[in-house]
Amino acid sequence: MKVSRSIRVAIGAVAVALAATACGGDESRSVTESAADGTLTVGIKFDQPGLGLRNPDGTFSGFDVDVARYVADQLGVSEENITFKEAPSAQRETLIQNGEVDYIVATYSITDSRKEKVDFAGPYFETGQSLLVRVDDTEITGPESLNDGKILCSVAGSTPAQNIKENYAQDVQLQEFDTYSLCVEALRSGAVDAVTTDAVILAGYAAQSPGSFKLVGDTFTTELYGIGLAKGDDESRNQINDAIQEMLDSGAWEAAYEENLGASGYPIPDKPMIDRY
Ligand code: GLU
Repeated sequence: MKVSRSIRVAIGAVAVALAATACGGDESRSVTESAADGTLTVGIKFDQPGLGLRNPDGTFSGFDVDVARYVADQLGVSEENITFKEAPSAQRETLIQNGEVDYIVATYSITDSRKEKVDFAGPYFETGQSLLVRVDDTEITGPESLNDGKILCSVAGSTPAQNIKENYAQDVQLQEFDTYSLCVEALRSGAVDAVTTDAVILAGYAAQSPGSFKLVGDTFTTELYGIGLAKGDDESRNQINDAIQEMLDSGAWEAAYEENLGASGYPIPDKPMIDRY
């Protein structure tokens, strides 16, 4: 059969339109749609002991990992059907916006500026910014002692780095790396004088290297960890909030904390109140 040129062009145009729809549909798939298909891709940290860690044998462990798994399970997706993807601090919004992850559980503070790009379920945990120094350091006792050109390390795209730039820039030199584990190695070698981020993260590193580091001073911000997901995916946010509430109510939240961070000595905080915005 002979097909006229105009029909062939029309068929071509329909095919292109269908392909575009398929692509767009994939990118904007909601968390609940992914879960209904049976798999989830979840962003976590790979290098934060006690919170999100990729172990040498390729398994994953930590409190955030347990929260991620609990939520997935409540959405009907079992552990073996979760793909974990590394979500460095500076890349989290982009990973969500590009549809490369369904949700992120990665010591991810809920902030107004991040809420312009993504939504958050939770909070599921509360902590605050603190400082880690070498165990024999007697000079750095808190943020106000960061003077005389001390070198402080933090991570690009994180709230603690932002806070230092906004409020302590005149006193201290800020060195920004992509991950906190690089900061901790720089602290160990003497290349920097202190590392700053959330106290619970620092406690995890201190526990990993007994006798090497210590936390100093009180926390000097409030960080509420949320589960990041695509902006506007309200149905999934509600379901994830229900899952977090169940984890808090069932005792699984305390158990996960005890198992992953109990040995760090960092005290378990009060249970947070979920913000149903
Ligand atoms: N909670 C802070 C943040 O979301 C610091 C920890 C991190 O960088 O993951 O920026």
